[in-house]
Amino acid sequence: MPTSSPSHLKTIYTRYFDTLVESRGCGTCVACCQHLHIDEPTLKKPAGQLCPNHDGTGCTIYASRPQTCRDWFCLWRRDENLPEGGNPADCGVVFSMDRSENPPNMFEHLFIVGRALNGPEDFEHPDAMASIKHFIKEGTLPVWLAHGGSKSLIYPHPELAALIQNPAKVADWNARQDVEKLRAHFLQLAP
Ligand code: SF4
Ligand code: SF4
Repeated sequence: MPTSSPSHLKTIYTRYFDTLVESRGCGTCVACCQHLHIDEPTLKKPAGQLCPNHDGTGCTIYASRPQTCRDWFCLWRRDENLPEGGNPADCGVVFSMDRSENPPNMFEHLFIVGRALNGPEDFEHPDAMASIKHFIKEGTLPVWLAHGGSKSLIYPHPELAALIQNPAKVADWNARQDVEKLRAHFLQLAP
């Protein structure tokens, strides 16, 4: 059962929005210069396309880069519990905490997403797998895996997710209480 107290959620927020692991740097990784959707007066670029300001080795406008670039870090830079080898350039997956303004379901209000940089085989890299296991074990946020234009929910498991969205389908009374608790947990992630 996920931990859902307000203080635990605050801990998660602090870790994923305000913390940086001092010993980790981006190195040769350019994943966020490719992955980020940027819509600022000085730079507009779609997600999934390398920024025109990147020359293949680094940012050519680093000192004056947009605020989005200054503020955004992947979870490998933010969470010391992720394996040392989990730099997206090495393991092929960039993890972030995202939210949707108008989510189509309760698992897309606030969630973890791992994006494969090359293809779905990236998710089988040992450090990517260790990171995925960490997020599932931690259990507070839904976990999605994305590549290309597709995205799959892996936590909670899709069969359980369907029951969480419709607990009345659970026949056993005790099991339904557990599912109701999970439902309350995921609903509270809505803003
Ligand atoms: S994805 Fe992470 S490691 Fe790579 S450049 Fe961005 S913040 Fe740095
Ligand atoms: S402006 Fe620089 S830091 Fe920002 S996405 Fe482009 S290359 Fe990366």
